[in-house]
Amino acid sequence: MGLEEKLPSGFLLTTVEQAAGWVRKSSMFPATFGLACCAIEMMTTGAGRYDLARFGMEVFRGSPRQADLMIVAGRVSQKMAPVLRQVYDQMPNPKWVISMGVCASSGGMFNNYAIVQGVDHIVPVDIYLPGCPPRPEMLVDAIVKLHQKVQSSKLGVNREEAAREAEEAALKA
Ligand code: SF4
Repeated sequence: MGLEEKLPSGFLLTTVEQAAGWVRKSSMFPATFGLACCAIEMMTTGAGRYDLARFGMEVFRGSPRQADLMIVAGRVSQKMAPVLRQVYDQMPNPKWVISMGVCASSGGMFNNYAIVQGVDHIVPVDIYLPGCPPRPEMLVDAIVKLHQKVQSSKLGVNREEAAREAEEAALKA
């Protein structure tokens, strides 16, 4: 007999963890943070044609203290790196980062002393998005993938500690 047949109709069962994941993914607030040309595509994604409101995240917050998602849209200069880290530190936990475009993810064509060769040197990154620039559809795809990650994440796990442990385990392997 299937589970549905054993349960009286009208009941919906879930776990606290799954409910928290659903709430978190359904109401993300991105920080207003654009660094270069990729930011134009990010702004387009927030406009009517691509309708980020479908995901409960149409409001880009002016204060990092009200944001839980940082979309790093563009190359990160060495001078901007400490500012970016400060904005990230001011965001409350839990928080997530999308690295948008090749410049943010690896320095891209700016292989020089002035540009950080990957924003993951500065903040932990959840999703890397390729492209120069990635189209709005690609950013929407990255957001959907991030939602899946948030939905399945464990409660009470410090993501920086988890990343450090995963790194140490990879080094030992
Ligand atoms: Fe500009 Fe392309 Fe770099 Fe994005 S990836 S910041 S569009 S040069």
